[in-house]
Amino acid sequence: MKVIIVSKRHGRTRSLSFGGWTRAVVSACLLGLPIVGAWIGTELARGDGSDIFTSDSTKVWNEALAEQESQIKTTKRDAEEQLAALTLRMAELQARLLRLDALGERLTTIAKLDKGEFDFSQVPAVGGPESVDLGEAYQAPDFLDVIGQLTDQIASREQQLETLEALLANRKIQRDVFLAGRPIKKGWMSSRYGRRTDPFNGQIAWHSGVDFAGKLGSDIVAVAAGVVTWASERHGYGKMVEINHGNGFSTRYAHNTDNLVKVGDVVKKGQVVALMGSSGRSTGPHVHFEVYKHGRAVDPAAYIHRTNR
Ligand SMILES: [Zn+2]
Repeated sequence: MKVIIVSKRHGRTRSLSFGGWTRAVVSACLLGLPIVGAWIGTELARGDGSDIFTSDSTKVWNEALAEQESQIKTTKRDAEEQLAALTLRMAELQARLLRLDALGERLTTIAKLDKGEFDFSQVPAVGGPESVDLGEAYQAPDFLDVIGQLTDQIASREQQLETLEALLANRKIQRDVFLAGRPIKKGWMSSRYGRRTDPFNGQIAWHSGVDFAGKLGSDIVAVAAGVVTWASERHGYGKMVEINHGNGFSTRYAHNTDNLVKVGDVVKKGQVVALMGSSGRSTGPHVHFEVYKHGRAVDPAAYIHRTNR
């Protein structure tokens, strides 16, 4: 065998001659390498790790992979659904907070309260020195953080509204127990408080209340909120209602044709407590109205004419 080697640079050639043995070795090298390679490959595939690559195990693997893939898909879908639900919940919370704020502002306005104390348009005051820059990039607040903040805000608003409600209720009670106005809706004052000629015997007598005349059966109303302490006949008064308003005040409504409340009833200001009549020592349909201050009858005129607070 003769092998000619041509030099690329100089165009010169060299020829080498191989003998029988050398030729056999070179041929074996050239042909044998791929065969040996293929054999090693096959052997490797069939070797100790051969189970991994059989068609059966591949099938099992593929099935496992497909199952995992489907699990991942399910998990992702669940996560997406949960995220959607959370987003909705958060939007609901924000809407509720807005409504609470609007309610709070309206109440503050109605109650003519100092805005500084109940400012629903502002976020609760928080602060603190500027924190050390941690060198981290801004990250959108976590869902749970946002929901936590919203919950805190709602709790704070609830507290403010409760305080506001208590304040308003207190004011309403004060206003309602404040004696003011007439004990009737329709009618006229027929007799004043004080010294007068008694309509039955013509003698000078003390009139301990004010009389309002009107139609038989017309409404008699409480001039303030209170608790009924008398609701029956009383000598001279006929059918009478007495209401205790607290703070040492009580009122009496007498000569009724009918009492509409009973002892222990809590009555509101302006509530109809009896119907006008002429029971007892009376010459015609009227209500004899008395005001007691610490157990002593006083002139009701001052209370009748004062305006509601
Ligand atoms: Zn009278």
